[in-house]
Amino acid sequence: MKLVMKFGGTSVGSGVNIRHVAGLVTKYAKENNKIAVVVSALAGVTNSLIETSFRAQKSDEKYIQAFTKTLLSKHTDAIKEAITSEIIQKEVIEITEKNIAELEKILIGICYIGELTQKSKDYVMSFGERLSAPIVWGAIKDHNTQTQWFTGKDAGIVTDSNFGDADPLMNYTTHLVRERLEPLLEKNIIPIVTGFIAANQDGIVTTVGRGGSDYTSTILGVALQADEVWIWTDVDGIMTTDPKIVPTAQMLSQLSYKEATEMAIFGAKAMHPRALGPVSKANVPVRIRNTNNPENSGTLITKEPQADAKEAAKAVAMLKDVAMLNVYGAAMVGAPGSYAKVFDVLGKNGINVMMISAAASEANISMIIKRDLLGRAISNLEIALQEHGGIISEVTAEDDVAVIATIGANMKGTLGVASKIFSAVAKKGINIRMIAQGSSELNISFVVKEKDGIAVVQTIHEEFNLGKQ
Ligand code: ADP
Ligand code: ASP
Ligand code: MG
Repeated sequence: MKLVMKFGGTSVGSGVNIRHVAGLVTKYAKENNKIAVVVSALAGVTNSLIETSFRAQKSDEKYIQAFTKTLLSKHTDAIKEAITSEIIQKEVIEITEKNIAELEKILIGICYIGELTQKSKDYVMSFGERLSAPIVWGAIKDHNTQTQWFTGKDAGIVTDSNFGDADPLMNYTTHLVRERLEPLLEKNIIPIVTGFIAANQDGIVTTVGRGGSDYTSTILGVALQADEVWIWTDVDGIMTTDPKIVPTAQMLSQLSYKEATEMAIFGAKAMHPRALGPVSKANVPVRIRNTNNPENSGTLITKEPQADAKEAAKAVAMLKDVAMLNVYGAAMVGAPGSYAKVFDVLGKNGINVMMISAAASEANISMIIKRDLLGRAISNLEIALQEHGGIISEVTAEDDVAVIATIGANMKGTLGVASKIFSAVAKKGINIRMIAQGSSELNISFVVKEKDGIAVVQTIHEEFNLGKQ
């Protein structure tokens, strides 16, 4: 089979884990598979790069040097654990030192300028994967297997210039990736590509959104016409809910692209929300698998949902870090185009509306947006309010909410799912702030206070017996 295998931060958290990953890759390569590997940064590194780049604006060289020193020792430790050959160790340490010296210069630059743009933030974040990929490369080489490592940019992934959340230009990317990686696969050389990072048409580094190595793997899966994309992580597959919230959560053996996407949008962290876009068009199956339990074949994601699955609700997910925005205006009632004006203001300011609910009276619209965009949303709506005079009279917000979504393709046409959800939540005495059901009927989502989120997820999981299927 031709496979793209992605190893997340949780799978490459330490040198010991990287060694295990290299063993897995080598095993599958020996079984006559052609493999391309995508790797994330070591667990926690991307977060620390983001934090340091923010703090760099207001700190001094000493702070930055202390950070790069810790980062170097973390990666050097991993190299020594992952690779036995001293020659390969030395080679990887040299690459690592060079990368960290470059990172230090950039962070010092940010510190002197006192400004961090999204573009420079992407560049800083790219170092997580630029540091992990050579270690995985060294560890695979250590298993006497031929391999070569690439940044996403060098592998040929070209994106738009939406820094921090870029999307690939698939036709151009496919052309370049095939040209650069296919000859290696033909010769059984394993290409290792940094996840998450790519470049725009001008060659400037971009990132494809947090958790984006999943996306890199599906982009490569489509470009290389892989038989399957395997996403290796720290759980057996996609589960009925986050096993960290409900320990009895069960693995779902099969999901459709639509169901899995819906789960990812509503917070199932095991998958990047846009990752299934390219594969669902090209019909490339995706499997989520556990690095620590490779005997389990994981969750298979394909076009059609499982034919014999009868359950209406399959899974429940929680989306945090969101805010609810309420727009009121008696003048919106019956005024053509008044909703369009509200969404136009938000759209023009780069604010994506994730969920909408409008009262039949038309005097109120409630929306869910990312929490960190709330300030921008309110201020721009207020400006518009003054300009358009009268349509909007008031804008209010709640920034301590979470979205809960119950998901399943068979909810379509099944009576009583919504009432079962809402009465279970009501029985717990929890107040629902907003409700929305898309016309796809693939999910029923609603908003509660974030402090109630975990209890609500547990209640729904229990109510639909999701842990006992
Ligand atoms: P990786 O580093 O492999 O990309 P992530 O931390 O991004 O791993 O994603 C895996 C985590 O996603 C799991 O440890 C789990 O806690 C969380 N998660 C949340 N919801 C789900 C779900 N429905 N199914 C599986 N995992 C989930
Ligand atoms: N390292 C990146 C992140 O933490 C990408 C990924 O892990 O998939 O978001
Ligand atoms: Mg992830």
